[in-house]
Amino acid sequence: MAKIICVLYDDPVDGYPKSYPRDTVPEITVYPGGQTAPTPKAIDFKPGEMLGSVSGELGLRKFLEDQGHTFIVTSDKDGPDSILEKELHDAEIVISQPFWPAYLTAERIAKAPKLKLALTAGIGSDHVDLQAAIDRGMTVAEITYSNSISVAEHVVMMILSQVRNYIPSYQWVVKGGWNIADCVTRSYDLEGMEVGTIAAGRIGLAVLRRLKPFDVKLHYTDRHRLPAEVEKELNVTYHPDVESLIRVCDVVTINCPLHPETEHMFDDNLLSKMKHGAYLINTARAKICDRDAIARALESGQLAGYAGDVWFPQPAPKDHPWRTLPHHGMTPHISGTSLSAQARYAAGVREVLECWFESRPIRDEYLVVDSGKLAGVGAHSYSEGNATEGSEEAVKFKTA
Ligand code: NDP
Repeated sequence: MAKIICVLYDDPVDGYPKSYPRDTVPEITVYPGGQTAPTPKAIDFKPGEMLGSVSGELGLRKFLEDQGHTFIVTSDKDGPDSILEKELHDAEIVISQPFWPAYLTAERIAKAPKLKLALTAGIGSDHVDLQAAIDRGMTVAEITYSNSISVAEHVVMMILSQVRNYIPSYQWVVKGGWNIADCVTRSYDLEGMEVGTIAAGRIGLAVLRRLKPFDVKLHYTDRHRLPAEVEKELNVTYHPDVESLIRVCDVVTINCPLHPETEHMFDDNLLSKMKHGAYLINTARAKICDRDAIARALESGQLAGYAGDVWFPQPAPKDHPWRTLPHHGMTPHISGTSLSAQARYAAGVREVLECWFESRPIRDEYLVVDSGKLAGVGAHSYSEGNATEGSEEAVKFKTA
């Protein structure tokens, strides 16, 4: 029987929800392009419930305990005294969400000789040292597409909120003001702007599709080019590299995974080549940007705004400089964990676990690492190596 550790974020401060604003969430069975949503044999939760926090347990306890497995759920994941660290030594599976990542560094993997599967409830497995997982022969899998559209919606919201100066305007209302000039002194129309995405995978392409009706001029760069008919349909300009794209865009949205090739891509040098007063939206991974270079670009006005929901490490320390930047629109890492998304990735986790325990193959599109190499989506979208360096700093959130 296996021991499974599941690292989830804490319940709401007022306790696990007793009711929800809506009774149902729409059921999505097929994603754009034809990939089917998760197809587990059964689920033990009601879609729309909170599944991603500790008491939600991704709806897995009954399923796992009925088969005699040991199932440990915790939010205590950072530092040598954490429950995760104490329980790792005989765990076979670690399940974690990118919003509250269980950083599986090479050191931690070395301390867990029985660890065979790192399963991401969501998308983005950069919290695992993929090189160490490859070397160990572990499987790393994620629930591809489960929250890609959730993020694309968030990106559109963030672009509009930045360009139109929504957040400060809302705050004037809350403060009891009617300060029109203060609100609009940084407010523009998106219409006519040049908007580009770094990567046109599931999220990037969905962002392009959603922005087309805004009558903007669309741009993208990616390692693989979109089909010619899609480029034509969207009237989108392809750029062979990031620099060519950022030089012409008023708004840039980052939608590639974090891996050694993309780490710190947006540094002082690249930011200096962007149009003065551009907006940068990053819902991909914080480490794709140089933390202090972003702060400098906002303070100097080189960037007019920076928004997103990804930080490094997570949870972000209370003194993380992005919390107090001028003109930022940051939230905690939430875009991919709406109640709607949770239902899909919890079902996907269940599907992968059913496959794992029945020795059936995991869908190729869910695999990141398998049999000692990058596999599936990992072989297409990631590069070998490690992007977890510095993650031990996450402990500062609870100790500061
Ligand atoms: P996909 O795998 O569908 O798309 C990733 C795209 O990035 C692929 O088209 C890939 O190219 C491209 N890419 C990889 N490396 C580079 C590079 N060096 N330069 C340009 N393009 C590159 O994944 P999704 O779109 O679903 O998700 C993308 C990322 O978004 C995730 O990896 C994750 O980090 C983040 N994410 C964030 C969430 C949140 O809640 N904030 C939730 C979900 C995802 P190709 O395959 O053509 O080689």
